[in-house]
Amino acid sequence: MSTHRWSNWSATETARPQQIVTPHSVGELAALVGAATERGTHVKAVGAGHSFTGAAVTDGILIRLDHLAGIVAVEPAVDGALVTVLAGTRLRDLNVALWARGLALANLGDIDVQTVAGAVSTGTHGTGAAFGGLATQIRALDVVLADGTVAHCSPTENPTLFEAARLGLGALGIVTALTLACVPAFALHARESTGTLDATLERLADDRAHTDHFEFYWFPHTRRVLTKHNTRMPADTPLEPVPRVSGYLDDELLSNTLFEGVNRFGTAFPAAIPRINALSSRLLGTREYIDRSYRVYASPRRVRFREMEYAIPVDALETVLGEIDRWITRTGFHVAFPVEVRFACADDVWLSTAHDRASAYVAVHQYHRRQHDTYFRAVESISRAADGRPHWGKMHYRTAADLRPAYPRFDEFVSARDKFDPTRTFDNPYLRTVLG
Ligand SMILES: Cc1cc2nc3c(=O)[nH]c(=O)nc-3n(C[C@H](O)[C@H](O)[C@H](O)COP(=O)(O)OP(=O)(O)OC[C@H]3O[C@@H](n4cnc5c(N)ncnc54)[C@H](O)[C@@H]3O)c2cc1C
Repeated sequence: MSTHRWSNWSATETARPQQIVTPHSVGELAALVGAATERGTHVKAVGAGHSFTGAAVTDGILIRLDHLAGIVAVEPAVDGALVTVLAGTRLRDLNVALWARGLALANLGDIDVQTVAGAVSTGTHGTGAAFGGLATQIRALDVVLADGTVAHCSPTENPTLFEAARLGLGALGIVTALTLACVPAFALHARESTGTLDATLERLADDRAHTDHFEFYWFPHTRRVLTKHNTRMPADTPLEPVPRVSGYLDDELLSNTLFEGVNRFGTAFPAAIPRINALSSRLLGTREYIDRSYRVYASPRRVRFREMEYAIPVDALETVLGEIDRWITRTGFHVAFPVEVRFACADDVWLSTAHDRASAYVAVHQYHRRQHDTYFRAVESISRAADGRPHWGKMHYRTAADLRPAYPRFDEFVSARDKFDPTRTFDNPYLRTVLG
């Protein structure tokens, strides 16, 4: 039995790969993959291990791309630049390197520790009705295929590989470089405030239309929400970051240290959770700040949790939240984590959760010491009734049979996988479940 062990951030998945390899060059990686295919050994790249699903699990060779990191080319464009970056680059490092060049990623999720390739491979997204997920920012890719060749692809060169591999679930090959359409650096003016769910839903169309990046957190067992309105500003706007001391109090104490304590207490005394939620939602105050875009989008997450996130048509949001609320009331299940609601525009990425439709994202979380299954299954059943699509990197119970009808280009993706990985070198149990 292998002595190598791997587990993901949320400790929901573990693996015992035969080998863990950190190649120093694309040539070394390509030779390794070609040889593994000849031997019939599975190969899987892992990023930061931040997927809650078993997307990165392997019993074969686990590849870390830590040595394939950094920006390798910047080509100026009318509205920013095309930036080619190696696949193992962490988003946090990319953000800093881009800022130094007067550039930025157009949108980001709420953490920045992922690798670029890992983030795009599962459809990582942020919020903003006019913005797509990270995969929509890709303009070209280099991919090591199962036979050990390196393929370059773009919308005009090898387009089938491009369409599949820009959100490829690690199923087509190992991405080694990505060319991203980056925008001029910008600041964000963040406005956070509390309110009620009913008023937020009433104003939703307006907030989505007039705020670049709008999201809200609903506190279950209450009708209270925390709203976040982030507005894009020129990069030379005088920055007014969150003051260090109060920022530490809000982010570290309330979101991390204190939140850990609250969750431990809620685990021991679940009946107290509704009152804790009511109190937390009132303790959070209003705050405004202006900072570099990437510093506003992302924040540290030190409380371990499990997460499920469903993309649903925007029009279904009120019904889905209402159903979740009714389920919580009916069953008496106690939910301590706020439900996070974000938005994205429709896109054309084959396996994007926002494929062909403007989407609302409903994310539910559960503290890692508490049982998540009952809650997540209920939310999945409610979201499925609204034609929801689960985030590929977050927990769900779906299989190929019921995912196929949810994605108009599903069969094209499966055909591309047959073409580019006929030997199933990049296969794992997760891919067998979701792709068949
Ligand atoms: C605390 C937390 C917050 C999060 N916030 C958000 C959020 O705001 N928005 C959102 O959409 N998601 C979010 N996620 C989910 C996360 O962005 C995704 O799961 C993402 O895939 C993780 O990136 P990673 O680098 O850790 O990849 P991993 O989880 O390590 O891998 C993900 C997949 O990518 C594949 N892969 C990795 N590298 C390569 C490569 N070079 N070539 C081919 N395939 C590759 C892996 O094999 C695997 O299939 C969050 C997760 C956590 C734990």
